[in-house]
Amino acid sequence: QAKKLGGSCMAFFEPELQTAADERMQLERELGSGIAEGQFVAYFQPQFDCAGALIGAEALIRWQHPTRGLVLPDEFIPFAAQSDCINQLHALMLAQVCEVLVKIGNFDTLPSGFSIAVNICPRQFRDHKLESHLDSVLSAYGISPHLIKLEITENLLMDTLQDAAAQLSRLRELGFRVSLDDFGTGYSSLSYLQNIPVDELKIDKTFIHAMHSGTGGTAIVDAVIALANLLGFGVIAEGVESEDQLKLLHDKPISGLQGYQTCRPLPADAFLSSIANSQPTPEPA
Ligand code: C2E
Ligand code: MG
Ligand code: MG
Ligand code: MG
Repeated sequence: QAKKLGGSCMAFFEPELQTAADERMQLERELGSGIAEGQFVAYFQPQFDCAGALIGAEALIRWQHPTRGLVLPDEFIPFAAQSDCINQLHALMLAQVCEVLVKIGNFDTLPSGFSIAVNICPRQFRDHKLESHLDSVLSAYGISPHLIKLEITENLLMDTLQDAAAQLSRLRELGFRVSLDDFGTGYSSLSYLQNIPVDELKIDKTFIHAMHSGTGGTAIVDAVIALANLLGFGVIAEGVESEDQLKLLHDKPISGLQGYQTCRPLPADAFLSSIANSQPTPEPA
């Protein structure tokens, strides 16, 4: 037994792992200069309803690293979220989202109810300056809070449900919409759902990927959809990767879906031109 344990501990010092840790520390050191040099950009993943109409998008951060190429958020958000850097990343994401919304505002027909979602981590959510910060950025761009959806996760509700509920109510009174991201993967009990003021649940991709046709293959997804509908929440399926998953979701009472099957996250320009191309061509005068 001891030998077995020793064996697995040794694995910790494998060269690849050492390198991975080094790389992480290197990224951590470069975070500040990356922010100063404007290396962080928002990508936009469109969301569609089951009939294929565009209903909104989620803004996802990427680090355009000078030597590593495009770095995905899972590689830097975990440590960024432990320092004040996360507030700077959030500020620049919000500004880029507003810039895109200003450009979309010039199109003839914005789908009704259209919004762009931004991810908010617990540290930012608990920051008492969140509301005033959101307000000052949106005012500067002339953007209505109705166009912004805030995505939070269940973890944020665990420690301080009462405070979180009060904060969410204030944000919703200001006009923001709130979405509960990665729903079903947290450790909190379901009972909070009755008292938590959110607009929408996002079914985590692990449940979407576990779907298959046949007995019980969509049981969890169906149960979450039913629960959301009974409680009056919208429901978005995320991580829809295949034609089969799309088919299985097609006739379900959901508000929307998001995933590689319909569209990958796009840089702002590509996202804007995809909306422009879906605009009805104006009648000749
Ligand atoms: P999330 O909020 O759950 O975002 C959805 C993730 O699923 C994104 O990964 C997206 O690219 C990916 N995805 C979309 N469609 C599919 C699909 O069909 N299959 C699979 N397997 N994945 C799909 P991404 O962009 O790497 O972001 C990872 C996480 O990083 C996000 O998860 C979110 O928690 C966090 N994140 C992203 N942007 C921000 C940000 O601006 N601020 C904060 N605090 N967190 C962020
Ligand atoms: Mg999200
Ligand atoms: Mg998610
Ligand atoms: Mg996630």
